[in-house]
Amino acid sequence: MTEVKYIFVTGGVTSSLGKGIISSSLATLLQARGYSVTIQKLDPYINIDPGTLNPYEHGECYVTCDGAETDLDLGHYERFLNVPTSQANNITTGRIYQSVINKERKGDYLGKTVQVIPHITDEIKRRIRIVGSEGKYDIVITEIGGTVGDIESLPYIEAVRQLRWELGPHNCIVIHLTLVPFLHASGELKTKPTQHSVKMLLEEGIQPDVLVLRTEKSLTEDVRKKVALFCNVEASAVVESIDVSTIYEVPVRMQKEMLDTTVLRKLGLPPGNEPALDEWKMFLHKLHNPVHRVKIALVGKYVELADAYKSISESFVHAGVANEAHVDLTYIQSEDITETNYRELLAAYDGILVAPGFGSRGIEGKILAASYARTNDIPFFGICLGMQCAVIEFARNVLGLEGAHSTEINPKTRYPVIDLMEEQKSVTEKGGTMRLGSYKCELLHGSEAWRCYKKEEISERHRHRYEFNNKYLTDFRNAGFISCGTNPQSGLVEIVEMPSLSWFVGVQFHPEYSSTVLKPHPLFVGFVKACIKKNKASL
Ligand code: GLN
Repeated sequence: MTEVKYIFVTGGVTSSLGKGIISSSLATLLQARGYSVTIQKLDPYINIDPGTLNPYEHGECYVTCDGAETDLDLGHYERFLNVPTSQANNITTGRIYQSVINKERKGDYLGKTVQVIPHITDEIKRRIRIVGSEGKYDIVITEIGGTVGDIESLPYIEAVRQLRWELGPHNCIVIHLTLVPFLHASGELKTKPTQHSVKMLLEEGIQPDVLVLRTEKSLTEDVRKKVALFCNVEASAVVESIDVSTIYEVPVRMQKEMLDTTVLRKLGLPPGNEPALDEWKMFLHKLHNPVHRVKIALVGKYVELADAYKSISESFVHAGVANEAHVDLTYIQSEDITETNYRELLAAYDGILVAPGFGSRGIEGKILAASYARTNDIPFFGICLGMQCAVIEFARNVLGLEGAHSTEINPKTRYPVIDLMEEQKSVTEKGGTMRLGSYKCELLHGSEAWRCYKKEEISERHRHRYEFNNKYLTDFRNAGFISCGTNPQSGLVEIVEMPSLSWFVGVQFHPEYSSTVLKPHPLFVGFVKACIKKNKASL
């Protein structure tokens, strides 16, 4: 294929309709038909990236292999497609303006007045085309964040309008996702919000090619026809997206609605063979028919917003299915865990995961959770800050290093068991950067981690500043707390575990970012397996 085809996905009426899931599902179907597809997300906010955003704002910050801090939708793309994304897959308004302003300062605009049109829109178009120009993809799906009509998304919509002209028919289509609410009082599905939303899009110069209607009740033929007629869309291009119990059901629904074939026809591409989606359907079958049930506590400080731990909760869905288990995940606010209540709070669980995080809030609760897991031999999984808490707990309560801490929380601690590396100290003074993206890790033969991964060398994504302080390595090892994964270049500790316990593993990296539907993460699979064993033993 010579020409890359572009699909733009916009949203109307309200946010949170699931554009990311529709984009991922469509991409999954196109991929199953033999096309190579990637998805890109354009975020209309002015932050350069979500790295500095509080997880309460937009949910978790997802990290790509190349170290980009991105929107959590990229996590869905990877979980569905099994293909890594990169910095180029997430663009924010902040990044667009930053590059335009940098060019202006360098004099690249030769004294011209720099304006939203054409300079900002040109930069948006350039960024959209970069992904397509890599030569790796047949189809690029670009999801536009926000809702049509927002002031923030106007330049993006205008860029799409221009690109449609530049690329020509059949090379580019627009899918618009809207809501068809059901009015209980009159017992009717209402199409007016969709009509208005399409009108708004038309005012901005874009006629959508396909409409995906989110609904809680099945759409009648009449509703479809009405929407088609009023919105200038073929009836076959009006697609129902009904509420489902799991996001992983959506590709199968979209296949039934023939979203993939409609899209391919409009792009002038051959449909190929109908995908069987065997593995995907087997995953769904297992998801709906679990044999085991385990209760796992996720101890963290952003628990009020489930999206803040999106990749972790999805990893448990994948690992649950791999073990034919339903994982009942309970979020526990670490600030609520105290010396007096921690036994009572944590007694009901077959496993405890202490979550990643930054700063001191709730840290003592996390340390208590690690202590409870260690002293009661409850399967424990510590991720990033969670691993650091397990280290601190062991230092204080087993090695007797009173007041041991991470220098992130207590810079004056006598026992900095978690500390900045010397090289990092100077970096931090210059403005602070993190260890981001994929780094290699060598596993200790015979360790729990090695048994899970079934290989000697792995590569995992990072997002942190502080590290296990290697000065204490021998003391820990002699007391039964070992490092079983290290970075071959720097010697930094990547994985710790306690071989005397049934399953006690802490990782400095973020395994949750690389778990996918078809490739559940080995550590999550191993952890859930240990929890099932624990649950059986306690019956
Ligand atoms: N705050 C810790 C650090 O920077 C852990 C970060 C994390 O959990 N992602 O090292």
